[in-house]
Amino acid sequence: MDTKPTILVVDDTKENINILLSLLKDYDVVVALNGEKALKMVEKYDVDLILLDIVMPQMSGYEVCEELKGKIQTKKIPILFITANTDDASIEKAFKLGGVDYVTKPFRPIELLARVKTHLELSNTLKKLEYAATRDGMTGIYNRAKFFELGQTLLRSQKNLFAVMIDIDNFKNINDSYGHPFGDKVIKKVVNTIRNNIHEDTILARLGGEEFALLIQSDVQESVMKEIDTMRHLVSQEEEIFANDVIVKFTISNGVATKNENDTLDSLMKRADEALYDAKKSGRNKVCYKNFRV
Ligand SMILES: [Mg+2]
Repeated sequence: MDTKPTILVVDDTKENINILLSLLKDYDVVVALNGEKALKMVEKYDVDLILLDIVMPQMSGYEVCEELKGKIQTKKIPILFITANTDDASIEKAFKLGGVDYVTKPFRPIELLARVKTHLELSNTLKKLEYAATRDGMTGIYNRAKFFELGQTLLRSQKNLFAVMIDIDNFKNINDSYGHPFGDKVIKKVVNTIRNNIHEDTILARLGGEEFALLIQSDVQESVMKEIDTMRHLVSQEEEIFANDVIVKFTISNGVATKNENDTLDSLMKRADEALYDAKKSGRNKVCYKNFRV
């Protein structure tokens, strides 16, 4: 892991930049002399915090802040405004637009460093909390709550969406025969196999126990069918060794549903669940479909 946080300094005055570079010598600092450049820099670098001058020609710090706060990729980067104006209106505007703090010119080194350090730590803690709140602790994939949150957004934005419900077959038998720690190993192996065989923009979550779900964005039904059947096949080829000498095989059943015009996420998932039930009922280690075009 990168130990040095990256700070983006945005100021149109070279003198200020030089002072900040020397004050922030313990950090990785990248520099932009105007707002447009700053917006490019955040795409290029993994920026942890931004020091942003308010008064700049063309694009003001306020405008840069507004743009960054409006984008999902950058809205969480803490922004500290650099300002000589500490009147109520300027400060109020800075906070209103999403700035977390401000530092005043001329710079007071101890104060500036303390504010930077505090906000880096705070943002780091928030990142960790958010990660923990949205992930399944055992596998690191999304949890149920995050799945439904991301799913709502996808449902609104994506015309062609496929929901998949996945369940490890006879999982209770695996747990009963070999114990829960072994069952956990099987879950991790299944998740890894699924994760390695889905597209980057497919959402994968553990809904609970041995049950998982996918949301796949695709315009081509046939390729989705192929993808899921390949995944099913690859899982069936996996194995886990119990007590050094028992080879344990396992399989998954899959239910797939296509999004209809009037679907809510619940109704879409419900059909995928019905398809999963069909897969279970008709022998497991299968993929079944609801409302597919034929
Ligand atoms: Mg300026």
